[in-house]
Amino acid sequence: MKNISLILASLMMLLFANCKKEKMTENPFFGEYTTPFGVPPFDKIDTTHYIPAFIEGMKQQNAEIDALISNSNEPDFANTILAFDRSGLMLTRVRRVFFPLNDANTNEQMQAIARQVNPLLSKHQDDIYLNEKLFARIKAVYDKRHDMLLDSQQIRVTEKYYRDFERMGANLPKDKQDELRKVNTELSMLSLTFGQNLLAETNKNFKLVIEDSADLAGLPESIISGAAETASEAGLEGKWVFTLSKPSMIPFLQYSDRRELREKIYRGYFMRGNNGNANDNNAVVARIVNLRIKKARLLGFESFAEYIIDDNMAKTPGNVYDFLMKLWEPALPMAKREVTEMQKIIDREGGKFKLQPWDWWYYAEKVRKEKYDLEDSALRPYFSLDNVRDGMFMVAGRLYGITFTRRNDLPVYQKDVEVYEVKEANGSPVGILYLDYYPRDGKGAGAWCTDLRSQIFENGKRTDPVISIVCNFTKPTADTPSLLNWDEVTTLFHEFGHGLHGLFTQGSYYRTAGVVPNDYVELPSQIMENWAGDPNVIRTYARHYKTGEVIPEELITKIQSSGLFNQGFGTVEYLAASLLDLDYHILTDSLNLQVGSFETQAMNKVGLISEIIPRYRSTYFAHIFDGGYAAGYYVYIWAEVLDADAFTAFKESGDIYNPELAAKFRKYCLAASGDDEGMVQYKKFRGKDPSVEALLKRRGLK
Ligand SMILES: [Zn+2]
Repeated sequence: MKNISLILASLMMLLFANCKKEKMTENPFFGEYTTPFGVPPFDKIDTTHYIPAFIEGMKQQNAEIDALISNSNEPDFANTILAFDRSGLMLTRVRRVFFPLNDANTNEQMQAIARQVNPLLSKHQDDIYLNEKLFARIKAVYDKRHDMLLDSQQIRVTEKYYRDFERMGANLPKDKQDELRKVNTELSMLSLTFGQNLLAETNKNFKLVIEDSADLAGLPESIISGAAETASEAGLEGKWVFTLSKPSMIPFLQYSDRRELREKIYRGYFMRGNNGNANDNNAVVARIVNLRIKKARLLGFESFAEYIIDDNMAKTPGNVYDFLMKLWEPALPMAKREVTEMQKIIDREGGKFKLQPWDWWYYAEKVRKEKYDLEDSALRPYFSLDNVRDGMFMVAGRLYGITFTRRNDLPVYQKDVEVYEVKEANGSPVGILYLDYYPRDGKGAGAWCTDLRSQIFENGKRTDPVISIVCNFTKPTADTPSLLNWDEVTTLFHEFGHGLHGLFTQGSYYRTAGVVPNDYVELPSQIMENWAGDPNVIRTYARHYKTGEVIPEELITKIQSSGLFNQGFGTVEYLAASLLDLDYHILTDSLNLQVGSFETQAMNKVGLISEIIPRYRSTYFAHIFDGGYAAGYYVYIWAEVLDADAFTAFKESGDIYNPELAAKFRKYCLAASGDDEGMVQYKKFRGKDPSVEALLKRRGLK
């Protein structure tokens, strides 16, 4: 702790020594933005602005909290809860620009800033949540919350903050708090070790080097040339290299005719962190699991899973198990049928062996060709980026009456980023939407959506949200616009769904406005994928980029039916990992954990077939040992139940744009999503509990 305050002190000295007063006033984070719509003034932000702004932001929040604590009036909602909710606004302002840009447009300078500020921010947070005097005031309001004439939102915000402090250990005696700090510190170090070991095992410790071109049998030309490039980057000119990164390994597993090489690369993959070398993760996993048990017990929970899930829609680990088993039961036989189907191909080709995990992609690809015959290249011309974007705006327009107007006059952080002004049907403002489509150096992989500024009501006036969607789509070329594949189409609709959630949010407190549990987050996004794939919707936006011809019915049918391809496998490998995650985190007593045999037992218990390996095995399950998904890997499929069930409501009404349902969905599940428990909000829309039926049908499990 001391070290960090020293760094902070020296940073500040450095800063104030070097910065002239005039320069500080130019720092755009030091005041409200003066841009139209209050968007971040990207054109005026320089990397040198961040550190001074972070430090000033923390300083201001500390001063705000000091003022709150030293208030001589009795703690009440306004002088304590609201004051805390509104503290740290300057810090939020710089945070909401720095971190999104560090993801979407980073460079060495930005990364160095991140390394510098991260420990400062985490200490800043600890200091707030373990501040006794602050907690005492919050608790005083919490204890009297039902006698203070508060409205339901004020009570909810008070309860949320109280629980945040409690879950961070504020209620514990000093010695337990110290113990907790120690556990937290060790846990954060162990996660770091887990991640570093995994990185070495993935990127350094294994590669498949092919020297004889005969061993490339079956691989498409583009994959071969990619492997040659990887080889020459590794100084292996004239050879071919495949790595354990998925874009390299999966096509190899899919297409390589060399069975022994498929086994070699897949073994390399599923043995990561489990090779008895310097990067072995077995002991790390065992220690993390035991420390999490300790942490949960310190905080008054039986198990770590209880601690985590208590905050989610599911509420208890038992509910999650019941739910997962409801899917497991039909998924397992379906996976077995897929095995039979592939074994038939093996036998027909005279294979004389039993299908193994490293054969799955190869034979699944054969099944795909036989049954679905859907080529990427046939689809892409119908999904130009402009058409897909306009299609998604059209869907939002028909559902919610909103409009999108391109603005070329607002500052952007990158010249090809598009900005839209979003308005209600009557012209009143909704918010601003940034769309950043293409990969570039400095942008992370994948797609995501962030708030550059979140919505809030202040004295009856709404601050409109500024939302940013970042993707990595196929780039346009000199003579072709950006043409998306099906996965990219659904990704754009998905992220747009997160965007609508942010744009529509209506709330008066930062703590609750649009803030939903982990197993709710993907509902607003995943539901939009249903519209993307609905034949009636596809017909309106999928037009050939050259001829304008509407996509042929035959292709729509193929898109629809290929949705059922390999679903037994996909569901089982995902559920197996989710169950493994839960099994670790429902443990209640520290034990001498043998990770390998624990995993085997967990999988045997549910009858996982030997042809499938869990999507993540323990020693490379980064989601749960090096990320925020411990006891929460299940959330993706939980939200899928909700989105499938919600869309069923539209389908059953006979109108996928049903205005009444759309208004309800917007009101309860998007605008007021944080006003009450996730399930309560969902039921206000649906009028009943979500049913798993729609998901089972969609995945072909029923
Ligand atoms: Zn998402």
